Amino acid sequence: MEPRDPEDSPPGEARATRQSTACCIVGAGPAGVTLAWLLASAGIAVTLLERHDNFDRDFRGDTLHPGLLEILDQMGLAGQVLALPHARMSTLSFHTAAGSLKIADLSRLKTRFPFVAMLSQARFLEFLVADARRFPAFQIVPGADVQELVEENGVIRGVRFRDIGRQMHEVRADLVVATDGRASKLRRLAGVEAVRASPEIDVLWFRIPRLAGQEGGGYLGPGGYMIVLNREDQWQVGHVILKGRHQALREAGIDALRESVARLAPALAPSLALLEWRDIWLLSVQADRLRKWHRPGILFLGDAAHVMSPVGGVGINYAIQDAVEAANLLSRPLLYKTLTPRDLQAVQRRREWPTRLVQALQAFDQRFLIERALRSTGAYRLPLWLRTLMSLPVVKDLPSRVFAFGVRRVRVDDRLVNR
Ligand SMILES: Cc1cc2nc3c(=O)[nH]c(=O)nc-3n(C[C@H](O)[C@H](O)[C@H](O)COP(=O)(O)OP(=O)(O)OC[C@H]3O[C@@H](n4cnc5c(N)ncnc54)[C@H](O)[C@@H]3O)c2cc1C
Repeated sequence: MEPRDPEDSPPGEARATRQSTACCIVGAGPAGVTLAWLLASAGIAVTLLERHDNFDRDFRGDTLHPGLLEILDQMGLAGQVLALPHARMSTLSFHTAAGSLKIADLSRLKTRFPFVAMLSQARFLEFLVADARRFPAFQIVPGADVQELVEENGVIRGVRFRDIGRQMHEVRADLVVATDGRASKLRRLAGVEAVRASPEIDVLWFRIPRLAGQEGGGYLGPGGYMIVLNREDQWQVGHVILKGRHQALREAGIDALRESVARLAPALAPSLALLEWRDIWLLSVQADRLRKWHRPGILFLGDAAHVMSPVGGVGINYAIQDAVEAANLLSRPLLYKTLTPRDLQAVQRRREWPTRLVQALQAFDQRFLIERALRSTGAYRLPLWLRTLMSLPVVKDLPSRVFAFGVRRVRVDDRLVNR
């Protein structure tokens, strides 16, 4: 970084350094890290700013779907990623007191990776960042908390961030990409408008020991819906509740929660003995998307562009697919310094309709499957539309395909990785 230029410092803040780059990416989640890897691999100077100084956060998804494993394969990384400790899931079933129904069978799909790899997101991101360091064009700044946009004549020219020692720094860039997640500060700074879909659910998120004879999948019953995912020696449980019920549940006590989990999945009862409220996160479920994903000089991707509901666990898939399409479309204009707002519009055009379609499918599932279970009181049966869909040979692989690849398969442009 260049030495401090005190004349340009904002009032009251000393700016320690100032640097320029082609692309400044804010937020090292799946979208930001993948985009930084791809652009740097194509020789485009990238500065990746991340507020935290490590990736060790549990409050995230850990699923790498087949479409994503194909993307990693095109980047030449699938073998190394799959050498990291992970569990695999190739089928997903819904369980009720009346029996089980298989709703996804990935082994029937045409892909080299007919499974979801359940891999710690922290380890996955660490791996990608470590690998990206081999590209001279890649730079990451951990502990860089972006506070301000640099704007000139209506065009975003860079960002200002505060480091761990509370010094301000400035990064100037041809393009700023906001991948700062579901609580995006850059959305607020840029004044972009979101269309809100307001789901009526929240999720209690916790882990319990995985014992012999227990099965993962979705558990539905009167008043309850729960997803149980294999995390090797543990189960990751997402226990869905109606919005606003959390306080009442806490007041009812941990035993009441243990009983409601065991009512849905009796085989899990022995794993619940040590579960306490301190082990349980409340995930406030939101879903929205920006009307416009860009302004001159800035582009929003991943959760910053569209917060995905956790239904189907597709947030990482969509964030990484956004990054791949953005790299495919923007690498040339960035390399040859010809970037225009139309290039940013092209990224939104490519990614918006798959996002809207999958958000509509999630809203449908949420309303007609999950909320229906949560509001039911008597004996529970899976809805007729789902049982019918899964019995029709022509369409029964559709949920598996959407789950595996999203509504559109995405490929990394060969020019990005074969230089
Ligand atoms: C509890 C939970 C469970 C989930 N389960 C799944 C699942 O099973 N499967 C799935 O696919 N998805 C799941 N998701 C969703 C998934 O984690 C997100 O969709 C995905 O992480 C989005 O990636 P992203 O790169 O857009 O943003 P994020 O992963 O949110 O990354 C944003 C990054 O930006 C950084 N940042 C924020 N503000 C600043 C700033 N001002 N300056 C610098 N850096 C900043 C953050 O520290 C963070 O590292 C889950 C989400 C949650 C919360």
